[in-house]
Amino acid sequence: MHLARRVAQLTPSATLSITAQAKAMSAAGIPICHLGAGEPDFPTPAHIRRAAIQALDQGKTRYGPTGGIPQLRQAIAAKLQQDNRLAYTAAEVMVSNGGKQTLYNLMMVVLDPGDEVIIPAPYWVSYPDMVRLADGIPIVVPTTQATGFKITPAQLQAALSPRTKLVVINSPNNPTGAVYTREELVGLAAVLADHSCWIVCDEIYEKLLYDDLAYINLAHVNPDLQSRLIISNGFAKAYSMTGWRIGYLAAPEAIIEAAISLQSHSTSNICTFAQYGALQALTDPLSLESIAEMHAAFQQRRALLMQALDSVDRITYFRPGGAFYLWVNIEQTGLDSLCFCERLLKDFYVAVIPGVAFGCEGWIRLSYAASQETILRGVEALEKCVQSFVLV
Ligand code: PLP
Repeated sequence: MHLARRVAQLTPSATLSITAQAKAMSAAGIPICHLGAGEPDFPTPAHIRRAAIQALDQGKTRYGPTGGIPQLRQAIAAKLQQDNRLAYTAAEVMVSNGGKQTLYNLMMVVLDPGDEVIIPAPYWVSYPDMVRLADGIPIVVPTTQATGFKITPAQLQAALSPRTKLVVINSPNNPTGAVYTREELVGLAAVLADHSCWIVCDEIYEKLLYDDLAYINLAHVNPDLQSRLIISNGFAKAYSMTGWRIGYLAAPEAIIEAAISLQSHSTSNICTFAQYGALQALTDPLSLESIAEMHAAFQQRRALLMQALDSVDRITYFRPGGAFYLWVNIEQTGLDSLCFCERLLKDFYVAVIPGVAFGCEGWIRLSYAASQETILRGVEALEKCVQSFVLV
């Protein structure tokens, strides 16, 4: 008996071997410098934790509505209005197990076999696999540093076809930290206006913007697009709630109804008492302070990491406008990204993620969701690693 065809389509994670090796080395007592993690290293703020504990104590431990408790759906709709200037009703919002399940649900309810999805690369690792799982075809559009790792209107126009069902825009981007500006979105919106397809904006890093960049969405530059626009977001990165698994989708009601129906046959509602924590995160003014504190720490670490790398020969980096990653070019070492990362881990005890996992060779992703001491130790080791290739 063999496994389903769809399993064979899944890309084995290029990050898996690095992460597994790093964990095994840590477990063996080797002081690994972890710059790979895609999660904030702060505890979830106390007021959010307390709300979940209180919900548990109050017996909020039963099955709930599949799409999320009504108060949370309402609070998300209010948040979208207030923070993002996007009008969605509670019925146009649903809660899932992280941004990951929101996007998976979306692919499953909008794609028919053979439908194409435009994904600018470098991309978040799961997009292409999700598309394939839904029998769609990922159309990966490589971007370069010359355009700030952002898809251009001409590239988008060339990639669109009568089979295009969905376009994915992720800003701030994982892994590059690239952020689309108003002018860039105006250009993309003009192309999208003439092509009837869905557009999903993955905004999970929206609270982590630097250098005076401000939040902006395609719907702001062309309000007509909102009827085709889907927002995917979650609590993981902004509130340091990765393990809570809470994300949300905002979309026209037909999509939300279909996605709730799908979710009713897969996971049902997400953890009930966790949703009360998320509700607190959105409604308690203390969250503003927590977000600001984490933002300030990330900003400092970003500056520290860039400054430390400035003095390392033979590598360059892309200056990120958001998120908590630095996209570093290692082409001058002559190694591909996976070999480089394996060598960096095995001989220099630093864990980072190879660019190939994000659909882009010649680059690696460093996460600065780590202490300043770890960042400095990591850069020191990275420099030694790069020098070792020069001497070989
Ligand atoms: N989208 C992007 C761009 C991400 O980087 C991540 C997580 O790393 C997600 C979505 C999913 O986040 P989660 O499922 O933890 O909410």
